[in-house]
Amino acid sequence: MSIKQNLQDIKSHIPEHVTLVAVSKTKPNSDIMEAYNAGQRIFGENKIQEMADKYEALPKDISWHMIGHVQRNKVKYMAPFVSLIHGMDSFKLLKEIDKQAKNESRIIDCLLQLKIAEEESKFGMSKTDALNMLQSDQFQELKNVRITGVMGMATFTDNEAQVIAEFNRLKTIFNELKILHSNLEIISMGMSGDYELAINCGSNMIRVGSSIFGTRSY
Ligand SMILES: *Cc1c(COP(=O)(O)O)cnc(C)c1O
Repeated sequence: MSIKQNLQDIKSHIPEHVTLVAVSKTKPNSDIMEAYNAGQRIFGENKIQEMADKYEALPKDISWHMIGHVQRNKVKYMAPFVSLIHGMDSFKLLKEIDKQAKNESRIIDCLLQLKIAEEESKFGMSKTDALNMLQSDQFQELKNVRITGVMGMATFTDNEAQVIAEFNRLKTIFNELKILHSNLEIISMGMSGDYELAINCGSNMIRVGSSIFGTRSY
């Protein structure tokens, strides 16, 4: 199937309130343009340099989401244009994003990445760290960043029950954080293999790559 057909197929199966981020990492600009010409405007990348190169080359009405792990020393390269940073997982990083956003006279939206998977390798904050951060005075002082939701990744496994438990964990944490921080709106969870489960568990933003663009070769 073509990229356009894949997109239409996914869009026809997800509810209206769910935002689709087309994950275009490693894919050429021609693939992104095919999706763009089919109406897609939100793209996700996991490397800052690659995203910046694509931003330069492609139409300026594209919203670029950084979905990968963010290195602090590279924040400045995306600060002029990034529309949402999904992988915000430490106060130190948030401070750097705030600083670079201020340089650009922008307010940058970020999602708190929470660790929901059993696997050791996944990045993310614990619920306690997230709660403490949102309640701290230091956090209140940052005027050029806005936390608009949460993001999480489930364990890569065939065990559906485990994936559902992990997604439910993120939804529960979201509800708890929202009591303190009422402007949380986004729950970014679900990828090609598990977005239907994620939506059933309350996701309203899915990050889908291979089901749109085909498998990646690194
Ligand atoms: C690559 C990636 C995705 C998309 O993965 P697919 O399985 O190709 O849909 C989603 N989220 C993150 C954080 C990723 O790095």
